Amino acid sequence: MLTVTLLGTGSPMPSADRAGPATLVSAPSPDPEKPELAEHFLIDAGRGVLMRLAAAGLGAPNLTAVLLTHLHSDHITDLNDVITTRWIMTFEPSPLTIVGPVGTRSVVDALLASLEPDIGYRVAHHEDLDGPPPVNVIEVSDGAIDLGTATIIGCAPTDHKPVEPSVGFRFAHGGASVVTAGDTVPCEGLDRLCEGVDALVHTVIRKDIIENVPLQRMQDTLDYHSSPTEAGETAQRGGVGTLVLTHYVPPLLPGHEDDWRQLAAKGFTGIVEMGDDLHQITIGSN
Ligand SMILES: [Zn+2]
Repeated sequence: MLTVTLLGTGSPMPSADRAGPATLVSAPSPDPEKPELAEHFLIDAGRGVLMRLAAAGLGAPNLTAVLLTHLHSDHITDLNDVITTRWIMTFEPSPLTIVGPVGTRSVVDALLASLEPDIGYRVAHHEDLDGPPPVNVIEVSDGAIDLGTATIIGCAPTDHKPVEPSVGFRFAHGGASVVTAGDTVPCEGLDRLCEGVDALVHTVIRKDIIENVPLQRMQDTLDYHSSPTEAGETAQRGGVGTLVLTHYVPPLLPGHEDDWRQLAAKGFTGIVEMGDDLHQITIGSN
């Protein structure tokens, strides 16, 4: 079984109701008496991610790994918060594993460099903190990702050019499988990842609306995101059961869900899920 929690369904546009892009994929503990054995994978770390994680009853110490689909600012805004909070809220060595495309290491190094004053203050003040936040950065491009977890993880390149490289992730556990696509147009790598999965979480923008906004900067976003219809077509090609839309541009307004759903359903015959932050979808039953 896997549970998908839409932690942040927003986009670069600040919203009072939607945190920045972030999705949680969780696999249950094999022992109900040991909840700490559950696995929690955070995909992207947008604005407000730890507030939403707290609302889901979890914190940075619970994260098995952070996986970044790409290095656009809206997807990594709060990575520094995750790194620092993990560091100061764990009391035994607990390195944070950060998986991402090539370039992730230099971004994490730069974040740690920006945190140097804070790290200095805390190391000086807390006797049991004796060094910077421990991180384990793994750069990936295509294939299996071995984190030693019960959940089987893989990735493949996506197409978010000129943002390059970018990757999507696939998680499988107990017969359930889910892909988190991130920002991408339809592409071979994503098709490969989606083959036969139960659910696809896909960021989308309403091209039919954005193409009418007379701002070149908005027009620029059209060529490297998928529309709900394109996301639906990707899901259909993969034989995906449930398509989960997120990263709504423009923000999804109450009562307009059916418009988005109908666009996705143009080329997709499965279930279309969408919702507000903290919307949860359970995949599989064991
Ligand atoms: Zn992006």
